[in-house]
Amino acid sequence: MVVGESKRIVSDNQVYFVSPPFRQYSRPSRGVQRLSGYFPRGMGKASDTTSGAISKRRARFLLCSIVLISLFAVQPFTSVHGQPRQEMMRGRGQTCPIVQQGLIILVEFPDVPHTIDKRYAQKRFFKELNEYVQEMSCGKVCIQGDVTDKWYRMPHPVAEYRISSRNLEVDKSRLTKLILDALAEVDKDVNLSKYSFVAIFMGARLKDYGMIGLCGYPGMLGWSTQDILKTKSGQVVRGGVAIFSYQAHLGTLFHDTAHILGGVKEGKRMVPCLYDHDLQAKPGSMRETFVDAIINMGFWDPMSCHYYKWEMPPPGISSWTKMRLGWLDPSKVRVIKAGERGEVLLGPLGDPKAETLATKIPVTESTYYLIENRQAIGFDRNLPGNGVLIMHADDSVAECRHGKSPVKLVNANSSVPHLEGAAFDIGKNTSYVDLRHNVKIDLIDKLGNSYKIQIGPYQ
Ligand SMILES: [Zn+2]
Repeated sequence: MVVGESKRIVSDNQVYFVSPPFRQYSRPSRGVQRLSGYFPRGMGKASDTTSGAISKRRARFLLCSIVLISLFAVQPFTSVHGQPRQEMMRGRGQTCPIVQQGLIILVEFPDVPHTIDKRYAQKRFFKELNEYVQEMSCGKVCIQGDVTDKWYRMPHPVAEYRISSRNLEVDKSRLTKLILDALAEVDKDVNLSKYSFVAIFMGARLKDYGMIGLCGYPGMLGWSTQDILKTKSGQVVRGGVAIFSYQAHLGTLFHDTAHILGGVKEGKRMVPCLYDHDLQAKPGSMRETFVDAIINMGFWDPMSCHYYKWEMPPPGISSWTKMRLGWLDPSKVRVIKAGERGEVLLGPLGDPKAETLATKIPVTESTYYLIENRQAIGFDRNLPGNGVLIMHADDSVAECRHGKSPVKLVNANSSVPHLEGAAFDIGKNTSYVDLRHNVKIDLIDKLGNSYKIQIGPYQ
C-alpha cells in the first residue's frame, strides 16, 4: 500500500510509488562523535591534502575519490597463493571464534621524515580496525597480530615508489617494488606463517606516496592464485597485502583489509570494491570523478566510499557485504520467493539482537533483492540518512565495471544526489515494484527502530 497520495514512476520495468511532496534530504541532527580513535593523525586539516587549502566538503570529495582505491586490474603478478582465508584460533585472551592475525610492517622512506611511532600503528589496526570488524561481524571476527619493532627503511627515495592517485594510471611495477622491498627487509626478522595477512604501514603521507591506501592482492595486482608472493628466503605471504599511508581513514583501513578477509573464490574477489572503476578513471575534477564513481551504493557501505565525512568514523557495511564476508548469520535473513507473500519485521542492521536483519527475495538464478534497515546505531550513526535500503544484487557480476555491479541500491529519491536519499521510509517513499519479476515491497509501519514490511506479487 502507498501511504498518502502517491506518484507512480515507471522506469526500466520498475515502478516507484512515491508519496509527494519530495522532501529534500536533510541530514538528521546528531552529535558528531569525535571519538579520537577514529581520526587519523594529521588528516583533519586541509593543509594535509594536495591542494593545501580546500573546503571541508571539497576535501571530503577529494579525499574520497583519492581513497577509492582498492583495485581491480587482473594482470598476472607474483600474487599470493590462495590460503585458507580464515583461521580458527584462540589467542591472547580473545574469545571471538575467528582471529585474523595481521603483520603490520612499518615502512619509511629515506627522504620522508615522520614522527609516527609503533603504538600509533598498533592503535589503528588492533584497536580501531579490530573494534570495527568485531562490530560488523557481531563478535565473530577479531583483528590481532603484530607491528614490526622497527621502521624498515626502503632502499630508494619515495619518488621511486610513488604512484598515481588514479587507479588506471598506477604504475604496478612500482607497487610490486614496494611490496618486494618491504618483504625483503622483514624476511630475516619475521615468521610469515604466523600471519593471515600483511599490511604495509608507511611513514608517508598521501602527498608523498600518491595514494592513501590500496590493496595489492587481491586488488591492484590481480587475484590470480597461480603465482605465489614469496620472500627471497621462500616465505609465503598468506591472505594478501594491503598498503596504507599513516593518514588512512578507518574506513580505508577496513575497505582494503576487507578485500583480503573476503578472499578469492572461483576466480572472483568475494568482497569487491563497490564503486565503478571506469567512472572513477574518467578525466575531470576529483569531485566529478567521485560523484560519478559511487553510483552503486553511495555512502551506504565503505566498500563503495570509505566514509561519509572525513571527520567521522565510517558507517557500517551493508548486509550484502556482510553476507559476502560470512558475517551475517543466515538465520537472521528471511527469504521470500518472488511472487510469494510475506510480512517481515525488519530490525536495524546494526542491532545483532534483532530477529531479522535482512530479507532476501531471490528473483533469478543469479539475481535477488536484499532489504535492510539502517538506523543510527553503532557505526551506522555515520550514514547519510536512515531508513530501509532495497538492493538489487547479481552474483553473475564480479566487479563494478562499465556500470554493472554485483549489488546496487534502488534509489528511493533520485532528486537527492549521490544516493544520499536512497533509503525508503514511512511517510516519504514507501513502496517499490519490479513489474518484470512481479515483486512488490511495501513499508507498512515503523515500530521503534524496526519496520513492518510486506512483500508480495504486484498482480
Ligand atoms: Zn577496493
